[in-house]
Amino acid sequence: MRYKSVLLKVSGEALMGAQGFGIDVAVADRIAADIRQVRELGVKISVVIGGGNIFRGVAVASKGGDRVTGDHMGMLATVINALALRTSLTKIGVDAIVLSAIAMPEICESFSQRAALAHAQAGRVVIFAGGTGNPFFTTDSAAALRAAEMGVEALFKGTQVDGIYSADPKIHPDAERYETLTHDEILRKGLAVMDIAAVALARENHIPIVVFSIHEGGEFARIISGQGRATIVSD
Ligand code: UDP
Repeated sequence: MRYKSVLLKVSGEALMGAQGFGIDVAVADRIAADIRQVRELGVKISVVIGGGNIFRGVAVASKGGDRVTGDHMGMLATVINALALRTSLTKIGVDAIVLSAIAMPEICESFSQRAALAHAQAGRVVIFAGGTGNPFFTTDSAAALRAAEMGVEALFKGTQVDGIYSADPKIHPDAERYETLTHDEILRKGLAVMDIAAVALARENHIPIVVFSIHEGGEFARIISGQGRATIVSD
């Protein structure tokens, strides 16, 4: 096994499938099956989930609204997604728990590093909701932050394509695909794979970032076992 403990970042968009909005339960079920497969390899997994399939704060700000309120709405969207993913995991017998950065005790537990480590130690898949709990951040930054707090060996970023390219390969078919990169190279080349704050935090804590296609069923487990296609970012 290449890694024994990982954090997976799943964007909200990955959950909406072909629908264009909201949650496609079949897609959430497939991602849950991928997580179970990796767990069965004996790997500890935690997950940070995005909210872009439901709401992004900038959407409010771009129409003259208050950015902070918009970001609160975006963070609430991540909680909806976290509950959907937990439901998909529970259905297939995977013990999972949602920890939210924003307290909502009637719905899920609140985040603390202590609770997260205890749940992971007990063998649960820990799903982090509510991003960092602060406006003006993204769930990519939350993923780098929680990866550091959990002390994982790698941050897996599930994207639309099989790694990092010099430009969006869906728009530029001749874009170059990178097999390996350093955190510095991502920042220097301005590659739009994760936001700058997230990459800087991963760099500072020496956390490798593994970028792969979330749409390729079984790929998560293949990469963990040392196969599959991904771009590996390390220092
Ligand atoms: N958000 C935030 N603080 C955070 C994480 C997220 O305010 O720490 C808000 C922000 O408005 C963002 C939205 O939640 O647009 C959804 O998160 P994100 O865009 O990162 O989701 P993804 O692109 O991964 O689906």
